[in-house]
Amino acid sequence: MTDFKLMADTEWRKRLSPEEYYVLRQAGTEPPHVGEYTNTTTEGVYTCKACGAELFRSTEKFDSHCGWPSFFSPLAGDKVIEREDNSLGMPRTEVLCANCHSHLGHVFAGEGYHTPTDLRYCINSICLNLEEKPVEDSSH
Ligand SMILES: [Zn+2]
Repeated sequence: MTDFKLMADTEWRKRLSPEEYYVLRQAGTEPPHVGEYTNTTTEGVYTCKACGAELFRSTEKFDSHCGWPSFFSPLAGDKVIEREDNSLGMPRTEVLCANCHSHLGHVFAGEGYHTPTDLRYCINSICLNLEEKPVEDSSH
């Protein structure tokens, strides 16, 4: 099995498009409102574009109007890593794929969204692949 956490930079460049590499491996941000999955409501599981790990589900996706796909919770807490990011001179929390340590986006808390967690996982669409399949809604 490939250990994506140990993958060489040259390998990543081969596997990913320049745009994907910029966001996933260099913690870039795609422009808002252009991502394929920004407003998608299709039922399914969102996997990591870099390694294929399952990260988010359509049942936790919500319409935040922020221009990027937004989720109020990851598929499971151990699917993502959250770490402090002060790169813009303000404290933010970066979200990374736990399986390959690729950058996914940021998570923001306490914005007043009417979701069960009041968290917004603001994820770059280019980091995700949607696998269309029935999703069990655990809240029912
Ligand atoms: Zn990954």
